[in-house]
Amino acid sequence: MKFVSTRGAAPAIGLSAAIAAGLAPDGGLYVPESLPRFAPREFDGRNDLPVIAAKLLAPFFAGDALAADLPAICAESFAFPAPLRELATPQDFVLELFHGPTAAFKDFGARFLVACLHRIRRETTQPLTILVATSGDTGAAVAAAFHRVQRFRVVILYPDGRVSPRQAHQLGVFGDNVRALRVAGAFDDCQHLVKRALADPALRSQVPLSSANSISLGRLLPQMACYAQASLAHWRAQNTHLNFVVPTGNLGNALACILARTCGLPIGRIALATNSNRTLADFFAGADYAPRASVATLANAMDVGAPSNFERLHWLYPNAAQLRGEFEVHAVDDAAIRATIHKRHACHGDVFCPHTSTAIRTLENLRERGESEPWAVVATAHPAKFDSIVEPLIGAPVPVPPALAELLARPSSAEPLDANYAALRRLLTPRA
Ligand SMILES: *Cc1c(COP(=O)(O)O)cnc(C)c1O
Repeated sequence: MKFVSTRGAAPAIGLSAAIAAGLAPDGGLYVPESLPRFAPREFDGRNDLPVIAAKLLAPFFAGDALAADLPAICAESFAFPAPLRELATPQDFVLELFHGPTAAFKDFGARFLVACLHRIRRETTQPLTILVATSGDTGAAVAAAFHRVQRFRVVILYPDGRVSPRQAHQLGVFGDNVRALRVAGAFDDCQHLVKRALADPALRSQVPLSSANSISLGRLLPQMACYAQASLAHWRAQNTHLNFVVPTGNLGNALACILARTCGLPIGRIALATNSNRTLADFFAGADYAPRASVATLANAMDVGAPSNFERLHWLYPNAAQLRGEFEVHAVDDAAIRATIHKRHACHGDVFCPHTSTAIRTLENLRERGESEPWAVVATAHPAKFDSIVEPLIGAPVPVPPALAELLARPSSAEPLDANYAALRRLLTPRA
């Protein structure tokens, strides 16, 4: 399989090259030249996540140097489960993607990216520095995945004081080849600094740099596997399609769901839940696509005003009217996030993180409208990561899962950094 740019002005390249490159040279995002088409029964006899992932991703790896390693890459990346749990309310399900080491769905993509990059660079001796700007969850997932992997360094930039206390703690526990920088500024400042460094050829000739942001194919492709496993399990049990509500920021996770459906998996409708960042909601309501600055919300990992994967969605559905007919978007504000967390705990004893709560609220909207089909809400993070928001709303402590407890028990520290490019450059450059 070859990969082409969404902007159509870059040569088609293989998977390894596309993963290593990140952005295409014409500024576009890499997308598969064509999409494979599966019938659900082709997965018969396959139940485990790594096995389903290897089958689903094989066509994307065909002809690439990584193809023979795909089963091993999947085994390393899908080392924890993604259970589909039934809620007390009929036909409501939750797909839990937070059972990895940093308790957010990004663990799957980050581990897959490392498993690929590590092999792509196996002949290279020079270390590669991965620069990551994070609004909370990406940095920890990337740090955990690359921690102590030889020939890689990770530098994380996060907005000081604007991530949850436990997110901040997680970012600072790794040490070794991971540096956490708490930036005096907003997430947009962090992202701006990273973009500037990646666009600085003089710096890059001294310090080989790469990124691990949500446009990476190495993060996008593996996320399809969780949707495949859940929809196949549902198909086998009930012989119907499963619909999904996906909490959405940069559209990576939602796009994986959409791609899995396009590849023939038994997925029905897809609804996108956002927070008060209304770029997608306004576009789907008929306005022109208008990226804008982000606003801070309780669901901080979805504080995105310019969803980076929108360009891929547009590539898949070039006709705006058709695209609008394909999905619906519900924007859920902080008051509704709070009310939903409180109510679901009071009524059913369920505890959701603020991100998942936007999707729960969206499902409630659909049910109020009379939807009776089976729907699965995607739970993108464990609520214990956001204890400072969730615990006051439910009036009880949130039990901490063992992997997260282990991280929180370690000491944590981050280096301060001014939101200033010269300061970052100094810090990245080896002293003479
Ligand atoms: C990153 C993140 C999201 C948003 O995912 P996208 O792929 O950027 O749309 C939602 N919830 C949580 C907990 C996240 O960490």
